[in-house]
Amino acid sequence: DTTVVVVSAFGGITDILLQCSQLAAEGHETYKEKLHEAELRHLNTVKELITITQQSAVLSLVKTLCNEIEDICTGIFLLKELSERTKDRIVSYGEILSSKIITAKLNTDEIECEWVNSTQLITTNANYSAAVVDFAVTNKKIANHFKTINSRLFMMPGFIASDTNGVNTTLGRGGSDYTAAIVAAALNVKVLEIWTDVSGMMTADPRLVTNAKIIPQISYQEAMELSHFGAKVIYPPTIQPVRGKGISTWIKNTFAPEDAGTVIQKESDNNGN
Ligand code: ASP
Ligand code: MG
Repeated sequence: DTTVVVVSAFGGITDILLQCSQLAAEGHETYKEKLHEAELRHLNTVKELITITQQSAVLSLVKTLCNEIEDICTGIFLLKELSERTKDRIVSYGEILSSKIITAKLNTDEIECEWVNSTQLITTNANYSAAVVDFAVTNKKIANHFKTINSRLFMMPGFIASDTNGVNTTLGRGGSDYTAAIVAAALNVKVLEIWTDVSGMMTADPRLVTNAKIIPQISYQEAMELSHFGAKVIYPPTIQPVRGKGISTWIKNTFAPEDAGTVIQKESDNNGN
């Protein structure tokens, strides 16, 4: 079986990158410190995950990518100008960095894993920061790409895509879930798993209601409605591609993998079946 793993940027990194670009646009040189903070987070993660003798290639990749971010921020700082298009370019580094680091981690553990460039597979319009996916083109590209390769494990950066001119776009905040659903539907997979930091979708917002309970099973329609309010467990557009293919989607907790989680699937004929 083939497994495709889609990753988000490391926690908080997308926000930090946006802050960097904002600071630079406002003429604050502190963008350099913020960027340095982001670079350190990634370098330290590499050092934690990968044995010393195998770190150097990944460390230099992290540095190269962070230098690119810095160059773009310098441009923003000099021009005092920041477009949605440039923001998309900046934030895209968050997912590039995380996916490259995790691929390296697996490969050094001798788990063969192939990095896939999402921006070459997911095609959108040029509505930067909330680009609309061209499913006809994207589905074809994804199906073709995975057909010609024999690897079993793939790693893809979530959230990022490109327009028809090859310019970076993004799918909206939280969009990595959506990337995973797009790939799942294009490949007709058996199951999509969304690994997050809560144990599933809840009957109510646990911050407001004390006896809120995890929902073991829910229909696509109900999940779509629930995802629009309260504690946002998944990015709402995620449901649409998997619903179209009837792909069961599990919400699982990274920090409590033994918890059952929530399964989103087709409406059953009678209760509980
Ligand atoms: N890194 C992006 C964000 O923070 C996408 C994601 O996390 O799903 O919005
Ligand atoms: Mg996310």
